This record gives sequence, C-alpha cells and structure tokens, in this order.
Amino acid sequence: MVRTEHPLLSPSLGHQKTLVSFQYGDPAARPKVYLQASLHAEELPGMLVAHHLRPALEQAEREGRLRGRVVLVPAANPIGLAQRLDHKAMGRFELGSSENFNRHYPDLADAVFDTVRERLGPDGQANVALVRAAVTDWLQAWAPKTELASLRRQLLLLAHDADVVLDMHCDWEAVLHLYAEEACWPPLAPLAWLLGCRAVLLARDSGGGPFDECLSGLWWQLAERLRAAGVNHPLPQGCASTTLEFRGETDVAHEHAERDAAAILAYLVHLGVIAGPAVALPAPSCQATPLAGSETLTSPVPGVVVYRARVGDVLAAGDLVAEVIDPTAAGASRVHRVCAGVAGVLYATVGERYCMAGGEIGKIAGAQPFRTGPLLGA
Ligand SMILES: [Zn+2]
Repeated sequence: MVRTEHPLLSPSLGHQKTLVSFQYGDPAARPKVYLQASLHAEELPGMLVAHHLRPALEQAEREGRLRGRVVLVPAANPIGLAQRLDHKAMGRFELGSSENFNRHYPDLADAVFDTVRERLGPDGQANVALVRAAVTDWLQAWAPKTELASLRRQLLLLAHDADVVLDMHCDWEAVLHLYAEEACWPPLAPLAWLLGCRAVLLARDSGGGPFDECLSGLWWQLAERLRAAGVNHPLPQGCASTTLEFRGETDVAHEHAERDAAAILAYLVHLGVIAGPAVALPAPSCQATPLAGSETLTSPVPGVVVYRARVGDVLAAGDLVAEVIDPTAAGASRVHRVCAGVAGVLYATVGERYCMAGGEIGKIAGAQPFRTGPLLGA
C-alpha cells in the first residue's frame, strides 16, 4: 500500500489543501479499479465504506491475493469538506464559483481525438493503451488556474486509466441506486446485484460533465467520432464507471457500510482484481431503467411536506407520494397532493420538510423514457 498526499493549487495566501490517495497492488497490474468517496462533500456514506475497504485491501495485498490494482480516494473533495455556511455543510457547490463539484469535467474524447486518430491500428487493446497514454499526456499538460480545476485534474490523473471507476455518492433520502452510461452497464450489472441496488438509471451522456461520464464517455464518444471521421479501427469501451448512491445523507452506519464494502470486495473478486473462489451473483434486485424515464416530482405550491410514501416503495401512476400543506390558507388549510406520474420505485426524496413553489419532492424510476435535454439535476 502506498499512501500519497497530492497538494492542490493554493488559492490564497496561507492556504494549501491536500488530496490523499491509497494505492494497492502492483502499479502496472490489471485490472485497475478506482474508487472515490464524497466528491459531493456532505455525502458521507462512501467515506465510511472506504474506511471498511482499507483493512480488507491491505489484508488482500499482504496475503498475495491482490492480482490487479486498486486506487482509493476516501475523501475526494477537501475543498467542499471545509465549506460551511450558517452552521450547515456546503459541499455540493464550490462557494466561490457556484460550480457543482461533480460537473464540468472535460470532454476527454475531444481532448485526444487529434492525437490518436492517425495512430490507431487493428489491435483493440493496443488502441486502448494508446488512448490512455494520450489522456495521461493531456492531463499532465493541463495547467489549472484554480484550486477547483486542480482538484478535477488530480482526480482524473488518478482515475483516467482505470478499467472500472466507482464514484461513491448518496442522495438526500434514498434507497441504494446507481447511475451509469449504457456502454458501462454489462460489466457493472454484477456490482449492482451484489450491492442490492433498488434502482439502476442508465443514460447516454446525461449532460453537464459529471465525473463518471467524463471517464466512460471518453471511450464510446471517441469511437463514434472516429467512425464518423472514417477511422474504422476497433476501440473497445476501456472504462466502466458509475456513480453509486449509497442511500441518504444520514445513512452513515457501520451495518450499511460493512455490507457495501463486502459487496465491493466480492465484485473485485468477480473482476479478478482479488484472487478468490468464484462469486455467486445474486438475482437482479431491480430492473435497469432509462434515466430519461426518471420522473422528478415537484410541488407547484409552497408548504409543509408530509410524505405518504417512503423511499423504496414501488408506486403505480397516480399513487399519492406527499401532501404539501398551507396552514395559512383562508377557510381550511390547503392540502396539495403530489402524486406519481409514472410507475416505478420511489428511489429518492428530499430531506427538508418545507418546500418552496416548484420545489423538488422526490424521484421515481419509470421504465419509459420521456425526458430530453440535460438529465441531471443541479
Ligand atoms: Zn452526489
């Protein structure tokens, strides 16, 4: 195991933050799996999963069972972790720029297109190695001007050449679910079932440049652009990446984290990163659905939110999800009913119990795509 401190760009006199990574296994070994937690800094369940993964990975390494390589970043956002306002954590957006910490990652397919297009050949795996090297060069040449850009660059330097990337987040109140691009789904399905995911949301470029899609989009988007330019050499999907949502923000508990870490370790055995007896894969715990079919419920009126359904409930269209109550209305209090527009699992709700007009109430994993444009929320 090698623990490394990566200094970020100093944004102001007397300030210097540091990112910490742990590397397990031979640095040249494959497959390489990269895991990070808490890129949205108030989303802490993944940090606890990392705490439980560390001794298990050290033991695997000590016993000579680590055949591949694992890079673990337990606290991926030291900038956001230090941000507070009115005694509340503010870890989703950088306060100085208002940028979401998990958006605005670069278009790596665009970054390396010109470098690789004339150098690809008939060997798909050699092409994967060529593209990875081109991305390494591009990231090393990137001279960030801000602390936030330096964080993005450092995370990508650690992750960009991984075969599998697990970005560990959580929602506000939620059951375990994951987001991934369609091209990543087949290799990630065993992980979803080992974790017992209650929703799987698949997209093809959700928009906004989240971390996981920066790394997966590189491959399928570059392959498409090369084909469009008449380059017909094979370029396999070199990375399967996913955003794992480990339930809700307050679900920071050893019983969850121990189980989630055990599932990830079983997946590492399944991938051949850790040697061990074949992993028995559980039956699918949900249906994979398109992110474009996920309904975000909102309330057109303000009021006190009373949930009448719970996260994890499987709803039919028309089922009552929440009441939004205005106890100041003339006559009797106004009770606005927020109902499911689509059938599916209510996989996330919000933590606040007061909503403003237009405020978000929850999300349902519907099976039929109906949304277009950017698919991720703020
Ligand atoms: Zn998040």
